[in-house]
Amino acid sequence: MASKLFTIALVVALAATLINIYVKRQGETRYLFHTEWYDPVSATVRKFLLSFFPRDNAVEMYDLRSQRLFLKRLAIEGLDEKDFYLGNTIVVLSRQLKITEYADSTTREIISSKRQRTFAMVKPDAVHRLGEVIDVIQSRNFEVSQMKMVQLTRAQAGLFYREHEGRPFFEPLLDYVTSGPVVAMELITTNAVQRWRETLGPTDAELARREAPDTIRAKFGKDKQSNAAHGSDSDVAATREIEFFFPSSKVHDIMVPQTTARFLNNTCCIIKPHAIAEGNMGSILKAIKDEGFEVSALQMFRMDKIQAEEFLEVYKGVVSEYPGMLQQLISGPSVAIEITSIHAGQTPVKFREFVGPADPIVAKELRPNSLRARFGENTVKNALHCSDLPDDGPLEVEYFFKILQ
Ligand code: AMP
Repeated sequence: MASKLFTIALVVALAATLINIYVKRQGETRYLFHTEWYDPVSATVRKFLLSFFPRDNAVEMYDLRSQRLFLKRLAIEGLDEKDFYLGNTIVVLSRQLKITEYADSTTREIISSKRQRTFAMVKPDAVHRLGEVIDVIQSRNFEVSQMKMVQLTRAQAGLFYREHEGRPFFEPLLDYVTSGPVVAMELITTNAVQRWRETLGPTDAELARREAPDTIRAKFGKDKQSNAAHGSDSDVAATREIEFFFPSSKVHDIMVPQTTARFLNNTCCIIKPHAIAEGNMGSILKAIKDEGFEVSALQMFRMDKIQAEEFLEVYKGVVSEYPGMLQQLISGPSVAIEITSIHAGQTPVKFREFVGPADPIVAKELRPNSLRARFGENTVKNALHCSDLPDDGPLEVEYFFKILQ
């Protein structure tokens, strides 16, 4: 076993060195990563050494098991340097590859300084203003790379805040963070930990209003305890906190915070990848709330082709935009939402009306206040998917918030 591991390590080191020498000769920047792809045919995880060339957004892949070149250098449309950071999933020729590690020290140094992760949590007192908080997040150039609305149990909250155990504010803090849903997020940007702490402002929201009025706590917090949002205080804390809410392996542990989905009087919508990339997620969430609907569950997903095909199956062969819809859904992260409302039994119909006609040009004419009129571009990039038939809403909610969990 030890000798096998040694051989693999040797092969990786040798391949990385050879690629380095070759690329240096070419005088071109390239980054090297370890990636994994789940091969559904063989039901195995295949490991690749992946080179990324920012000059033309090209990748080259080396199969570590067969020790062969798997994909010769190829420019990949839609792929960008900003997609390369630890934990992210990139799509190469319809294969979803998870970036698991930097494969050389230069890549580690350059990429980790450019693309740092931090953990953010919108606390119960500010969840009703989630759209506005996300607007601030996006306007300050943070990228939301994971997101989930959860209800913390007392035991989970105690574990999350364990370093404060014994302090006078510990028990009231647990009461507060378990008093309603929270929204956990992984944020990415340059120097993310420090920049998010600056964006939050001082712990005490009253002090923040006096000394840093432009910060999140000044705008959305109440006092020292109910201070709207949380931010990791170091790189190490960020890793721990992200893992706490978004475990990297599928664990069925009672300490993993669970979705708030109610599976009752609901319907489903998805904020499409293009709307998120264009920075409209916050405005869409705010518009949904202002119209009187409640976001009772929410989670970011990166759908793979199989999942997207399964989800859009009813449209296959029925609508001409099907290939575009499929492509759009797997082109980046999307956000699935459970919508509930006071309109008992009427939520799917009422919400469908608010989303508007599938074609944003038609929507602008017929329903200018609808979400698609305001945030859509064309029938594929129409900002949101929305359950069509009343019976589909609850099924789609179950798909995201039960099956894909
Ligand atoms: P921190 O880990 O620094 O974010 O602190 C955890 C949270 O505990 C803060 O965000 C506040 O919600 C709460 N907290 C911190 N200090 C106090 C305090 N002196 N009184 C009441 N709540 C506090």
